[in-house]
Amino acid sequence: MNFDGYADLGVAAAAELVNHLAEGWAQGALRRLPQSGSQRARLAAATEAAIWGRGSVLGGAEAEELIQLAARLRLVFASRSAGDADGTAHLVNSLLRDYRAAPQLATHDGEPWHLHFHSQDREVGRVEARGATCAVALATVIGSGWASRLGTCAAERCDLVFVDTSRKGSRRFCSLRCLNRDKVARFRSRHPEGGPASQESPAPTFPL
Ligand SMILES: [Zn+2]
Ligand SMILES: [Zn+2]
Repeated sequence: MNFDGYADLGVAAAAELVNHLAEGWAQGALRRLPQSGSQRARLAAATEAAIWGRGSVLGGAEAEELIQLAARLRLVFASRSAGDADGTAHLVNSLLRDYRAAPQLATHDGEPWHLHFHSQDREVGRVEARGATCAVALATVIGSGWASRLGTCAAERCDLVFVDTSRKGSRRFCSLRCLNRDKVARFRSRHPEGGPASQESPAPTFPL
């Protein structure tokens, strides 16, 4: 399913930033960011390059800005998943404002005119531009009635986020792994220890 070319990329990027640079639970394990500045910078740079392609080298200050952006994007997904439509809208509006989103047609590198979401001012930093792109994409998806497609994993001890692009829009888990963790947890809660059934285990199934 496609929301819109640019919005697709922007919301996918927002989810990737949350899943790689925001602290939280990931598939049963608590994930903390490294303490050391150089490790944090490496992690941020690798995430940025994985999302937006090579050729991007983030400085230390930019790395911390990107980590901050990821934490703010996490709040958007969390608020949405908690069903707080007003809170989600306010969070996205403040991202649009703080990252100075300003849609502009641009042409460069021999490309035809195309839409950029961020301000074209020369002093706009790279992370500010990334934040604007994510914010406009989230606003586009939410404002078009697709807010429910921004999800947080429903499994215990996991708050990885995802963009549900399935046709039915009923995705609940970040991954097959969490779908199966959830099945096992439910099975165990129905079959307390000692019962003969506790030896069985539920078969993993698709889809998410
Ligand atoms: Zn461009
Ligand atoms: Zn999960």
